[in-house]
Amino acid sequence: MDNNNIEEIVRKILSEMKGEGTKTSAPASIAAIPEKARVAMLVEKERFEIQEYKIPEVGDGDILVKVEGCGVCGTDAHEFKRDPFNLIPVVLGHEGTGTIVKMGKDVCKDSAGKPLNIGDKVVTCMIFGDEPEITMYDLNKQNVGKADVYGLLPDDNIKFNGWFADYILIRKGSSVFNVSDLDLDSRILIEPCAVLVHAVERAKTTGILRFNSRVVVQGCGPIGLICIAVLRTMGIENIVAVDGNEKRLEFAKRMGADKNVDFRNYKGADALGQAVYETLGGHYADFAFQCTGNPIAHANIYKMIRRGGGLCELGFFINGGDATINPHFDLCAKEITLVGSWVYTLRDYATTFDFLKRAQAIGLPMKELITHKFELGDINEALKTNLSMQGLKIAVVVNK
Ligand SMILES: [Zn+2]
Repeated sequence: MDNNNIEEIVRKILSEMKGEGTKTSAPASIAAIPEKARVAMLVEKERFEIQEYKIPEVGDGDILVKVEGCGVCGTDAHEFKRDPFNLIPVVLGHEGTGTIVKMGKDVCKDSAGKPLNIGDKVVTCMIFGDEPEITMYDLNKQNVGKADVYGLLPDDNIKFNGWFADYILIRKGSSVFNVSDLDLDSRILIEPCAVLVHAVERAKTTGILRFNSRVVVQGCGPIGLICIAVLRTMGIENIVAVDGNEKRLEFAKRMGADKNVDFRNYKGADALGQAVYETLGGHYADFAFQCTGNPIAHANIYKMIRRGGGLCELGFFINGGDATINPHFDLCAKEITLVGSWVYTLRDYATTFDFLKRAQAIGLPMKELITHKFELGDINEALKTNLSMQGLKIAVVVNK
């Protein structure tokens, strides 16, 4: 560095101190963007490879986000193990969040109309490239299961297509939300929580779910536990959790289920139904949420519901096989109102931000749902931990 340079720098600093400096678009706190960054590329079944690529150009409608963390979803685990979506090679990770480090000149607001600036924390939802008419206020749209999402996109020249990476390029036409008012763990939980906000909205369409309803939640994995939390934040108090794992049943209690039934203690669907009946003080449930991916669990749950009751089935986000029920006894004679639920709408996503704040306010241990955190370089281990059914929510984070 020569003297001229130093003089120039000093002059620049002095002029900036006086407030006459040329405005740079990025605040000083944002670290320089490197030329290259890492992605975790799933190169074959059960093997991610950490690869480095040049960070792509940021177009006028694009946003470059530095990733802070991303949850591992059941969908990621299926793709990792079996490649059912035929995506390999692919950068997975759709439950991610991070900081805006660069924005195109056309970007100023998020999908809810909130301003977006460099340094803001964001999450993405679906990409509506082909269906721009879908907005968060389109209530006729039951869910947006057909839309694309980051983390399940085919590989292309951009490479930064999923959240299991150091950076992600959010392209024009994507839904993106400014969630700077939520901490990292809450932001990682947004996507799975939106699934439950949607399921409860679906349940409400039956007209059976009320403040004083007796509710059964079957399955106490992350989905069932969050289901209990959503019901609690709505003011529903009478919740029975059903599972076969003591630890999970204990956690369900802390999430707001005041009673539980360990299915291992009962033989057959009728005995299990009777156990729920007794746990509810001589009543079957008014409403039930089926949160396991097990067809037998689907068949069993009818025995726990009263005549005229309701059921929301949300456990089968992938094909888990056929379930056998008796349409006469289980459905018709009892006049059960059944709704299915899958993914969420954009509007549910925005509702979820408020749910997370409410859950925190009433002291639900939401953050304890994240039981394991892995660095990006250890992503194979993260997915294997998920597949081994250890813990609840597994997350990949930049700084553990
Ligand atoms: Zn997911």
